[in-house]
Amino acid sequence: QRKPSVEYLSRIGATGGKIPLGLKRKGLRVVVTGGAGFVGSHLVDRLMERGDTVIVVDNFFTGRKENVMHHFSNPNFELIRHDVVEPILLEVDQIYHLACPASPVHYKFNPVKTIISFSIFTNVVGTLNMLGLAKRVGARFLLTSTSEVYGDPLQHPQVETYWGNVNPIGVRSCYDEGKRTAETLTMDYHRGANVEVRIARIFNTYGPRMCIDDGRVVSNFVAQALRKEPLTVYGDGKQTRSFQFVSDLVEGLMRLMEGEHVGPFNLGNPGEFTMLELAKVVQETIDPNANIEFRPNTEDDPHKRKPDITKAKELLGWEPKVSLRQGLPLMVKDFRQRVFGDQKEGSS
Ligand code: NAD
Ligand code: UDP
Ligand code: UDP
Repeated sequence: QRKPSVEYLSRIGATGGKIPLGLKRKGLRVVVTGGAGFVGSHLVDRLMERGDTVIVVDNFFTGRKENVMHHFSNPNFELIRHDVVEPILLEVDQIYHLACPASPVHYKFNPVKTIISFSIFTNVVGTLNMLGLAKRVGARFLLTSTSEVYGDPLQHPQVETYWGNVNPIGVRSCYDEGKRTAETLTMDYHRGANVEVRIARIFNTYGPRMCIDDGRVVSNFVAQALRKEPLTVYGDGKQTRSFQFVSDLVEGLMRLMEGEHVGPFNLGNPGEFTMLELAKVVQETIDPNANIEFRPNTEDDPHKRKPDITKAKELLGWEPKVSLRQGLPLMVKDFRQRVFGDQKEGSS
């Protein structure tokens, strides 16, 4: 791996020795692609708090101006409406590359051309452009990959060394394969062009500012419980996922970016729940009388998923702190406001 430049080291205050985790230091120029989205906007909040200059690049496919509007008056913040499929020239120190159409609804129900252009183009051409940018300016590049690269895993819990079990012709393969290709491109630029890279494999994450109605299970259940609609459990509800609160993820992403290790690193909460157990926690948190309605499941739905986070614990000194029962109430107020409007503010 190419050594960080003296300029980079002095910016992060590390000229005297090892690169510190440095989560509190100031003054980097950072691009966050997809920064108007759910995860991106929380990351932007932390970077702004640290005193960085932050440029958000987003085409608002699923992101919202409202998620970053509170920074508009800050001269250290800039929002560019731009599709990462098109090249862009910026002068920056770090690139967090999150831009990706990530919601299941878009994969299952959109016409094929939309799927191809948004998913494959963004993951392949968009990632290539951001790697090209990183190469040109000597910036460090972090890819937000996904636990979906493990497909319907035959190994449990999933360790980073597992190569996965992805069906290349399944209904959501364009997402899985798109991210797998993005990882490949990232490692190619690392090996072939000495770009400093980091890869995070993110497991199911929830929290305030998640898209309502984008079809993910936590946002669906919370919105349904608030609207007094039945919670829709797909299949028999015995499939498992591990749910991570967004602040834990953001901490992990920043530690990964500032640390010395390329990855890939699993970033997720090892607490594993069946969808029926999740429905129960949502009932306890929002409405004990909420009904459950069973619906047919999607083909190729992974049966179980749980991260092995030993590597992130050891090398990044990171582990999640917020349990599902602690985290869920923290997103309910935000969802209540967006589902009902401001008149219900404070009633959560
Ligand atoms: P999100 O949909 O809220 O955010 C994605 C953002 O990318 C949106 O603001 C969207 O407008 C933007 N975007 C999409 N295509 C773009 C393009 N071509 N050019 C510019 N901007 C574009 O989703 P999120 O949950 O915040 O996901 C962020 C990243 O984390 C994604 O890369 C996703 O694959 C990854 N991830 C998320 C989860 C999760 O559970 N939330 C799990 C695994 C991986
Ligand atoms: N690129 C970009 N911004 C930059 C530098 C490159 O968007 O500051 C894009 C560029 O248009 C190209 C991609 O990144 O499509 C890959 O760039 P690279 O220099 O690696 O490849 P090349 O341009 O030589 O094919
Ligand atoms: N799911 C569900 N009800 C819903 C939405 C999803 O039971 O209303 C299930 C879905 O079948 C899957 C799990 O919840 O087994 C997680 O789905 P999600 O789309 O949130 O994440 P991913 O499949 O990407 O892990």
